[in-house]
Amino acid sequence: MKARIVTLPGDYIGPEITAQAVKALEAVAAKYGHEFLFDERRLGGASIDAYGVPLTEETLAACNEADAVLMGSVGGPKWDGVEAARRPEKGLLALRKGMGVFANLRPCTIHPQLSSACPLRPELLKEPIDILILRELTGDIYFGRRWRAEDGRSATDEMAYSAMEVERLARKGFEMAGKRRGRLCSVDKANVLECSRLWRETVERLSGEYPDVEVTYMYVDNAAMQLILHPAQFDVMITGNLFGDILSDESAAIAGSLGMMPSASLGSGTRGLYEPIHGSAPDIAGRDIANPLGTILSGALLLRHSLGLEKEAAALERAVERVLDEGYRTADILSPGMKKVGCTQMGDLVAARI
Ligand code: NAD
Repeated sequence: MKARIVTLPGDYIGPEITAQAVKALEAVAAKYGHEFLFDERRLGGASIDAYGVPLTEETLAACNEADAVLMGSVGGPKWDGVEAARRPEKGLLALRKGMGVFANLRPCTIHPQLSSACPLRPELLKEPIDILILRELTGDIYFGRRWRAEDGRSATDEMAYSAMEVERLARKGFEMAGKRRGRLCSVDKANVLECSRLWRETVERLSGEYPDVEVTYMYVDNAAMQLILHPAQFDVMITGNLFGDILSDESAAIAGSLGMMPSASLGSGTRGLYEPIHGSAPDIAGRDIANPLGTILSGALLLRHSLGLEKEAAALERAVERVLDEGYRTADILSPGMKKVGCTQMGDLVAARI
């Protein structure tokens, strides 16, 4: 197939890690006879330096015409003094909004080779842990009205959801669970919050349309506990913006290594935005020591969710597993007896194993 992929390397380690993901995707294209056309654009600080704004209309238009967008990371101390409205992070927020993505996908997989980085007791890792957290991205308390009383001594933040917002997210969850192990856990706080009661009713209403998916409901406080006590019970989890923010970071802590974690932001079509969950790591930029695997694995999500290339996505994920099996590690995941490699070499190793 032919696909157009916009790349947004961004700032600090962004270009270093994005180059490795592009290399891996090019190896996939060569092996499976696809043609990926990469169109590199600026985002964040790099865009501020070149054009004075963190995201230009041209870049957004290019993203909306592409099949998928692969991003590195944006921001860093160089732009700390920039006025709030033009900060690098604003470019990312505008990009998400402009692309109409409403579902943030965060896989949490514990690579057996890196289980020593997982803070959980080894007996909890006997069953494989492979969780997909789907967080709603455009509603909830982050987008409600907020105000402070005149005397400044009380404050209010409104939480709001429409059935449409819940439904489009839940449908993605049902569809993904149907392609995986068929289990969907909907996380809410329906014992207290009206938004959560709407959330639960909506998921219940849809469940009849997906008879092959087994749905369970869990209060968010229990879900936070269960993620640590028995993480292997989860397949796909769906939740709102606020709860998802917290639970997805908790799941990242369980996986143990920031540099390994991919993510995807999806809208109603197949076009998506793919990026590692970490930031631009200014402390290690320019030294070729960053871990590119989170970005490379984001490339695998891109193949799966935007291009529908499941076999190729699995091949890329297997290549990463093989490199880890062979003992290669970047500095952030290094343990005794393993072979230390830099960012470029890690990218070469993965590309060579596809
Ligand atoms: P960070 O994720 O950049 O770094 C935290 C720590 O993890 C650092 O010690 C860093 O060296 C290390 N680290 C991160 N990614 C790594 C990788 N791939 N390989 C090896 N080590 C890695 O978080 P921060 O320091 O709080 O933020 C730095 C900048 O990134 C800030 O400007 C922040 O706003 C921005 N940021 C951007 C995004 C994004 O682009 N989506 C996300 C988070 C933070």
